Amino acid sequence: MRDSYISAELRQQVARRANYRCEYCLVKQDDVLLSYQLDHIIAVQHGGETVAQNLALACAHCNRHKGANIASIDPTTGQLMLLFNPRTQVWTEHFKLEGAFISPLTAVGRVTVRLLKLNYPERLRVRQALIEIGNYP
Ligand SMILES: [Zn+2]
Repeated sequence: MRDSYISAELRQQVARRANYRCEYCLVKQDDVLLSYQLDHIIAVQHGGETVAQNLALACAHCNRHKGANIASIDPTTGQLMLLFNPRTQVWTEHFKLEGAFISPLTAVGRVTVRLLKLNYPERLRVRQALIEIGNYP
C-alpha cells in the first residue's frame, strides 16, 4: 500500500514506538535490507485514517501479505476473524515464539499467521539466522 503521504515526523514516531521492529513478525528493521513500511491497520479503503493509532511498523513481507486485508477466515473454526491489531492487542496474548516459529495462541493469531505467511520457510530461515547471532526476538 502506498504510504508516501505520511509525514516524516509521523513515520519516525511510529517506528520509534515499535522499537524499530516489525509489529507482526518482530524482526528488527536493522536486520533486513528492505526498508520497513507503515501499515494502515485498518486500510484506507476501509475508512482507516492516517493517524498514529491506526499505523503499525511492518516489514515488507508482512505489509505485502496483509495488503488491504483487515480480517480472514479462521482455519480451525471457519469463523471470520479480525487480524491482529498491534494498537489494541498484545502480541504475546495471540502468539508465542517457539524458536523462530510463530505459534498462534488464538483465532486472531491463527488468521494473522496464515494471511501474513509469518512462518514461510524463507522467513523462518532468516529468523533462525537472527536467533543464532542474538538478534531475534
Ligand atoms: Zn514482519
